[in-house]
Amino acid sequence: ARIWDTPVAERAAALTRAADLFEANHGEIFALLAREAGKCAPDAIAELREAVDFLRYYAAEALAAPASSPRGIITCISPWNFPLAIFTGQIAAALAMGNAVLAKPAEQSPLIAHLATRLLHEAGVPVTALQLLPGPGRVVGAVLTSDPAIAGTCFTGSTATAQTINRAMAEGCAPDAMLIAETGGLNAMIVDSTALPEQAVRDIVASAFQSAGQRCSALRMLYVQHDIADSLKEMLFGAMDALTLGDPWWLANDVGPVIDQSAREKIAAHIEAARRDGRLLKQLDAPETGWFVGPAAIAVNGIEDLAEEIFGPVLHIATFEAGEIDALVERINARGYGLTFGLQTRIDARVDAITARIHAGNMYVNRNQIGAVVGAQPFGGEGLSGTGPKAGGPRYLPRFADAEGPQIDLPPLTRIAGQAEVEAALAALPRVTELPLDTQTMPGPTGESNVLSTFARGRVLCLGPSVEAATQQAEIARGEGCAALIVVPGAKGPHAIDGFIERPDLQRIQGFDAVAIWSTSEDQRAIRKALAAREGAILPLLTEAGFAPRCVHERHVCIDTTAAGGNVSLLA
Ligand code: NAD
Repeated sequence: ARIWDTPVAERAAALTRAADLFEANHGEIFALLAREAGKCAPDAIAELREAVDFLRYYAAEALAAPASSPRGIITCISPWNFPLAIFTGQIAAALAMGNAVLAKPAEQSPLIAHLATRLLHEAGVPVTALQLLPGPGRVVGAVLTSDPAIAGTCFTGSTATAQTINRAMAEGCAPDAMLIAETGGLNAMIVDSTALPEQAVRDIVASAFQSAGQRCSALRMLYVQHDIADSLKEMLFGAMDALTLGDPWWLANDVGPVIDQSAREKIAAHIEAARRDGRLLKQLDAPETGWFVGPAAIAVNGIEDLAEEIFGPVLHIATFEAGEIDALVERINARGYGLTFGLQTRIDARVDAITARIHAGNMYVNRNQIGAVVGAQPFGGEGLSGTGPKAGGPRYLPRFADAEGPQIDLPPLTRIAGQAEVEAALAALPRVTELPLDTQTMPGPTGESNVLSTFARGRVLCLGPSVEAATQQAEIARGEGCAALIVVPGAKGPHAIDGFIERPDLQRIQGFDAVAIWSTSEDQRAIRKALAAREGAILPLLTEAGFAPRCVHERHVCIDTTAAGGNVSLLA
């Protein structure tokens, strides 16, 4: 593998040619998407559209980006549920910035990956810059995420695999190797009593059951206000009855199979457990041949009852009382995921209040919560749902450019700050700004509002290693609304500890969201390993000089501004 050392205009032209070739080969692509990934026609069309959008968008963004050097060899690991769009998006971004790519598609979808790779080569991407390495994740993926030659990994898949990759990279790759991980979610929608039921039902059915629920963005947890719950459920179950399950090859079918036998068994066992407990509210019959699962609705008390993401056509439903809506937001945030969120209401003040507090990367109001559009609705989550930056957004490409930091020797070890001391100092930090730092209106069609905002990531541990370096790091973090704690020998001041954190302690200390350090790479490795050994969300190690863009979360709110109707008598 060799970096794609050619002027950006040539790279952009090749990616644009690839977009044209993808469109020209739509017939073969649609056939493969149906045969290999079980995609129904509307899903296949949307998938090709998204892949083409990624190619054109990143080509255009690269042309507009300031000159930079590539990072090197990037491993791109993609899931089977968007075997063309995500596969292509990751690769296109890395290539646009001049990196070399080792592409590892999901075991279930190598043929689509092969076709996409062939078309990219035909469009002019050199074979040395893009190599396809299909195979099992545990074997091929494991090597590609631990070899020292790898400068970064771009991963989309499950939260558990992202953790495995983070640990493998911490052991084997350079400590500042990039990791972008986009993972799963426990995505909720709240429907209040002012919503238009017909519209809510349309959007619930699409969000929960389109693509047989095999979208990371899919609705898993529906909260309906108690006052309208009975009638809404009746309408919803009627709408489910109108879905046709069957071979995705035929246009008449709305819901295809799930990806394979093991997926079917896992989803079926989850539904069966609910049936045994008397919580299964509704399930459609499914064809017996093929890996079909009949779309199902299950009663739960709330998001706390969901042990994990069930990646199939299963909707969990709970009700809430009018006065409980604020508590719902807390409960949803408390699960630690943050991918998509849906809200159906006719009260503008409620839209503002709830979208300001939900910790989710993509929020959708009065519409379905799937199908983000490149450039208009940059996509990606926070917490357990991903590291950012958002794919298809303005902050994605810069992450693929080389970004070295100063390397400063560690100062002499004076005293060690213990876990309790650091945690107490973290708890005493000023509050992290909860207001948006920067808000940008994204392009989109009339009748839809698309707004992308950044929010402070949280508390940043600034470890210098010199006092000057740590002070500078704290300034950068605070500039993005974060709270910063300096822990360095010789540090003084209210938000500083004069001492040294033992590197393994970073596995245990609670209450921070990122670590900044400009020390030597062996010291950085010890920190990265300790951070990777933690449970929960992947915490960033900020080693580059200009790490400000990594101190923020991006959140996007998409509103259907044409939504009308609903119970307006409740608005007075
Ligand atoms: P997965 O994690 O099982 O596999 C994803 C990829 O990782 C595959 O290519 C697999 O071969 C590879 N892999 C597995 N083990 C590996 C290892 N040890 N080292 C390196 N690579 C390894 O996920 P999946 O079942 O293919 O996809 C479904 C999941 O993806 C769901 O959780 C879904 O929510 C998530 N997803 C997220 C997004 C997003 O943008 N946030 C988009 C689509 C899917």
